[in-house]
Amino acid sequence: MAKYNKILVALDFHGDNAEIIEKGADLAKLYGADLYMIHVNEPLAIAYAADGMSWSDQVVSLEASLRKEAQTKMAEVAKKLGVPADRCLIREGRPSSEIHRAVEDNSIDLIIMGTHGQSGLQLLLGSTANSVLHGVKCDVLAIRVSN
Ligand code: AMP
Repeated sequence: MAKYNKILVALDFHGDNAEIIEKGADLAKLYGADLYMIHVNEPLAIAYAADGMSWSDQVVSLEASLRKEAQTKMAEVAKKLGVPADRCLIREGRPSSEIHRAVEDNSIDLIIMGTHGQSGLQLLLGSTANSVLHGVKCDVLAIRVSN
């Protein structure tokens, strides 16, 4: 049986991501592997200043609050599972690209992610799941999530 040494769980924090977190914790225990977590903050839009106020300001403030919320949720999960801070990765950009980068940078050998996030259809792979599969350098376990 393949042995995994470094397992990365990808968390979008749209819901509580409980199934993904639980599977990651179980498999890390089973294999005696190091558990890593990643959340990627996606830029909502390229902010533009039309008239000095406004929409761009709202986007910036919404992004800041989403970032803060993700940081809080990541810290809660890390505390619960005993994951050290240097294995809690918060990145900015396109989720699939940042997940690929994290795999390379940390020699991850298994990614655990949901088949879809909040917006995905129950029976279809979501776009992040799909993009992660393309060109990935390690195994991927896609968990059918219920949200
Ligand atoms: P999606 O393909 O966007 O429906 O999401 C499928 C899965 O990709 C989610 O269940 C997460 O495991 C992962 N994922 C999606 N977005 C992110 C994100 N921003 N950061 C980390 N993981 C993500």
